[in-house]
Amino acid sequence: MTCEVVVVGAGLGGLTVAALLAARGVSVCVLERESYAGGCAAPFDHSGFRFEGGAGLYAGWQPDGIHARVFAELPVPLPEVRRLAPAYVVRLPDGTDVRVGLADVAEFEMELRHHFPECAAAAVAFYREIGPIAEALRRSARRFPALATASKLQRLRLSAMEARTASRVLALEDKTAAALLSPGLSPRFHRFIDAQLHLFAGRPAAECAALYAAIALTEPQRGLYAISGGAVSLIDALTRSIINSGGTIRFDAPALRLADDDAGGRIAGVDLLSGERLTATRAIVSNLTIWDTYGKLVGLNRTPAAVRARLKSLRGRGAYVLYLALDEAAARRLPADQVLAVHDWQENQTDDPVAGAQLMFSATPAWDQSRAAVGQRAVTVSCLTDAEQWFSFHEDESEHEAQDQLALEKYWGRLHATLPELGAGVEVIETATPRTFYERTRRKLGMIGGVGQSLDVFGTNAVTHRTPLPNFYMVGDTVFPGNGVAAVTHSALIVADEIASPR
Ligand SMILES: Cc1cc2nc3c(=O)[nH]c(=O)nc-3n(C[C@H](O)[C@H](O)[C@H](O)COP(=O)(O)OP(=O)(O)OC[C@H]3O[C@@H](n4cnc5c(N)ncnc54)[C@H](O)[C@@H]3O)c2cc1C
Repeated sequence: MTCEVVVVGAGLGGLTVAALLAARGVSVCVLERESYAGGCAAPFDHSGFRFEGGAGLYAGWQPDGIHARVFAELPVPLPEVRRLAPAYVVRLPDGTDVRVGLADVAEFEMELRHHFPECAAAAVAFYREIGPIAEALRRSARRFPALATASKLQRLRLSAMEARTASRVLALEDKTAAALLSPGLSPRFHRFIDAQLHLFAGRPAAECAALYAAIALTEPQRGLYAISGGAVSLIDALTRSIINSGGTIRFDAPALRLADDDAGGRIAGVDLLSGERLTATRAIVSNLTIWDTYGKLVGLNRTPAAVRARLKSLRGRGAYVLYLALDEAAARRLPADQVLAVHDWQENQTDDPVAGAQLMFSATPAWDQSRAAVGQRAVTVSCLTDAEQWFSFHEDESEHEAQDQLALEKYWGRLHATLPELGAGVEVIETATPRTFYERTRRKLGMIGGVGQSLDVFGTNAVTHRTPLPNFYMVGDTVFPGNGVAAVTHSALIVADEIASPR
C-alpha cells in the first residue's frame, strides 16, 4: 500500500495531524496497534461506568483556542464542551479549599486574599505579573505555532509585536518559576503553586521553566472545560473527519520500524509487524513518545549519539489511577467535581515527597448523564508515582498484583484522609498502574504526560517535532509544546503545517 503520509499511532496527536492533512487533500494512512483509537485519552469502560482516560480538565476550547482553529479546517463539528467554574479546587493540607479558575478575575483575587491572608498582596501580585506574560506568549503561539523552531528573525518580529512584555519575557527565559515567587509569599502559597505545577508541568516551581509556569498557572483562569461524553467525543470526531476526508485508519496494525532510508536519509515508509510495508511518498509521522520513536521506530543504531544522550536525560513520570463509583449525595458534599488534594508528607516518607503527596480527584459532571447510572458518577483519581519502580523487582505477575494492592491501600487511605466527606459514598471499581498504561499504549515504562518542563526542555531547548531524518516527524505530548490534550493538538497543527499548508 502507498500513500503520501503514514502516521504511526492513533492517539490524539496522530489523529489530529491525520485529520488536518486529510482535510488539506493529502492521502493519509494511520496505523494503530490497538483495536481502538485515542491512546491515553481513550475511555475505560467497566461495570456500566465510562471512566475518562484522564482528569477531564481540557484547555484551549475558547472561540480563539487551538481546538476551534483545528476544527475550522475539518468537515465535522466541534464536540460540545462546557466551561468548569471553578476549574478545580486545591485542598491544602490544613483543609483550606482554594477555588481556581473562576469566571471572574476579581472573584479569584478575593479568593486568594481570603485564603492566603498571611501574604494576600503578594499572592495577588504574583498572578497579576504572570497574567500578561502568559497572554503575550499565547498571542505569539497563535501567530506562529512552531515557536520552538522559530528563527532568530521570527523571534525578533514576535518580540516587537509584544513590546510591553518582551523585556520581562526575555529576562525570564532562562529562569525557573522560583524567580516569580517573591520572598513575601508563604509556604502555604508555595505549596498551592507546587501542587498545580506538578500536575500540569511535571515539575515543582524550583525546577519548572518560569514561562511555562506562567502559562500553566493562568490556563484555569482562561477556562478549563469538560467535553460532553468525555475525550472520546473528540477522538470520535477526529476519526470521522479522517474518514470523511478520504483518509484511512488501520486498527490492530502495529508498526515495527521505519523502512530503510535512501542516500539522502529519506525514509521510504513503515514496516508493520505483520511483514507488510507501507510506502510513504511524502512523510512519516510518529505519535509514539520520543523514547519509543527512537528506541523502536528509528532504532538505536540509526539514532545519532547526541539524540541518544538527550533521551537518557529526559524524565517522565507514572500515574497510579483509581476508578471509582461515586454516589450523587457524596458528590454534592464535595467542594467541586475536580479537587486537587494535597496531604501532609513526612520527611522520612519513601515516595516522591512532593509529587507523591497529592492526588487529583475528577468526577464526571452531573449534567453528563452518559457515563454512569442515574444517581452515580464515574470518578478517576490520578496519583503521581515513579514509573520505574513498577517495572523493577517483578519476577512474576503476582508481585505486580501485590504492589498494586499496597498502592491501593495507601492511596485509598490518603483519599479518605484528604476528602473525608466522601464517607461510604464511594467504591473502588478498578485500578491502573504504570504497567497497565504500558499495556494500553506501549509508552516507555507506562509513563504518561510529557517530559517535565524544566529549563533543559523549554524554549530553544525544547524537543521539537523535527528529527534528523528529513521526512520523519514526531507529534504528541513528549514534543513541543508539552503535556495535555491542547498541547498535543497544538503539536499536530505544527506538524501538519510543516508537511502541507492549509488550503
Ligand atoms: C491519568 C491521566 C490523566 C490525564 N489528564 C488529562 C487532563 O485532564 N487534561 C488533558 O488535557 N490531558 C490529560 N492527560 C494527558 C493526555 O491524555 C495525553 O497527553 C494525550 O492523550 C497524549 O496523546 P498522544 O497523542 O501524545 O499519545 P498517546 O495517547 O500515547 O497515543 C499514542 C498511540 O500510539 C499507539 N501506538 C504505540 N505503539 C504503536 C505501534 N508500534 N504501532 C502503532 N501504534 C502504536 C498507541 O496505542 C496509542 O494509541 C492525562 C493523561 C493521563 C494518563
